Amino acid sequence: MPPCARVSKENCSSDHHTFLTGVRLNDLMAAETGPIVVVEDDPHIADLIDMYLRRDGHRVISFDRGEAGLEAVERERPRLVILDVGLPGGMDGFEVCRRIRAKSRVPILMLTARDEEIDRVLGFELGADDYVTKPFSPRELSARVKAILRRADEPPSDSPLPAAQVLAIGAVEVDLGRREARVAGSGTAEVVALATREFDLLAYLARNRGLALSRQQLLDGVWGRGWYGDERTVDVHVGQLRKKLGPGLQLRTVWGVGYRLD
Ligand code: CA
Repeated sequence: MPPCARVSKENCSSDHHTFLTGVRLNDLMAAETGPIVVVEDDPHIADLIDMYLRRDGHRVISFDRGEAGLEAVERERPRLVILDVGLPGGMDGFEVCRRIRAKSRVPILMLTARDEEIDRVLGFELGADDYVTKPFSPRELSARVKAILRRADEPPSDSPLPAAQVLAIGAVEVDLGRREARVAGSGTAEVVALATREFDLLAYLARNRGLALSRQQLLDGVWGRGWYGDERTVDVHVGQLRKKLGPGLQLRTVWGVGYRLD
């Protein structure tokens, strides 16, 4: 094989050039064909998840420890991470989720065993995309995975004119292009960090400003119709938005209906 410098780029197959080209290709392919990383220490549940996801045509890599799962997420660039909250060893699912989120926006589906874990899972502290409470049916998990992946593959609905779309809602600015929420203070507006779903919910409310929306409408509009979760999820996210954006956000509870952004 001649050295790379002597051949055209197209014909070059020396290691370093393949590597450089490979990085780009992997980036592109990961979006389509990356594996699903599963971190679950219960072998029966892990096997079941593995079996059903493979049946659906996914590539699956499973780990029973948080540390190994975290390494795999960095190495494999998965298209989805399924993460058990209760993991043995020094790193539980919360910690793994937090560390993944510090570096990546890969969708994360958490497996929770207790109701009280749900608030933490969905809050910005962790920023997981969704959760399934144990015991769950493989069919339910499979449906959730499909919904998350479909959503992740969709271009944002505001893609035609993203930069120009800034909705001013009282003291709050919702910048759909930058996916940023800002609160006007004295002087410059301050950016408020929101989790993915929190921003999606805010954007949906802002687009439907003045309309009373039921929890089910919000679930359908923000989480998608394939989402099997309960309406409590909406309340948790509304609570987060109110907490983070403060009284400048005129987000009303409409008794017997749901919520309305004024
Ligand atoms: Ca466990």
